[in-house]
Amino acid sequence: MRIVLVGPPGAGKGTQAAYLAKNLSIPHISTGDLFRANISQGTELGLRAKAFMDAGDLVPDEITIGMAQDRMEQPDAEGGFLLDGFPRNVSQAEALDEMLKTESMKLDAVLDLEVPEEEVVKRIAGRRICRNDSAHVFHVSYTPPKTEGVCDACGGELYQRGDDAEGTVRNRLDVYHTQTEPIIDYYKAQGLVVTISALGEVKDVTQRAMDALKKTGTS
Ligand code: AMP
Repeated sequence: MRIVLVGPPGAGKGTQAAYLAKNLSIPHISTGDLFRANISQGTELGLRAKAFMDAGDLVPDEITIGMAQDRMEQPDAEGGFLLDGFPRNVSQAEALDEMLKTESMKLDAVLDLEVPEEEVVKRIAGRRICRNDSAHVFHVSYTPPKTEGVCDACGGELYQRGDDAEGTVRNRLDVYHTQTEPIIDYYKAQGLVVTISALGEVKDVTQRAMDALKKTGTS
């Protein structure tokens, strides 16, 4: 089972991807998480990616595609994967198609998480993420942790992503509209897109996503 998750920043892709991957027993592959891990380990790749991420721009394809491909070729991804944040433009989508074609594989579904723009800005401004696990996500007003700054799930430190600052969020939204949204039409032409609303409780959105994937015959 090979699924791509798309949606604007703040749609809850990371949170939903973690639950869906668990329910479907496939690895959750997030290029954003891979970049952040490279940055915290101080790798060459991390150094090259950092300035683009800080500005809310896309990291160039020649860095991103190879990194994503390496991850998809790991043994745990043989039976499928859930891609979160990749592809993010049409040339990445084409590269992914090529890569799958050489392995005689194909995507099963593209799950599009829809959320109104005003909601996205509110969600991101209050978002706090655990340093130990990016799937542990809180919001200062919607889903505050029991103790300020501390993750309920594992006790890790909560922080605000540098690229969640308001100025950067606007650019990330522009980048989403101009560069990422066109992949939805690209995949519509292949009959792969399933759109669901990402509003409401996390568990309700997960259920909606599972129901939508079932209808496609994917899960
Ligand atoms: P995310 O955690 O998915 O919101 O990604 C955080 C940042 O990492 C993005 O704003 C980009 O700068 C970079 N990034 C993640 N995935 C990609 C990708 N597929 N192509 C280019 N840049 C990416």
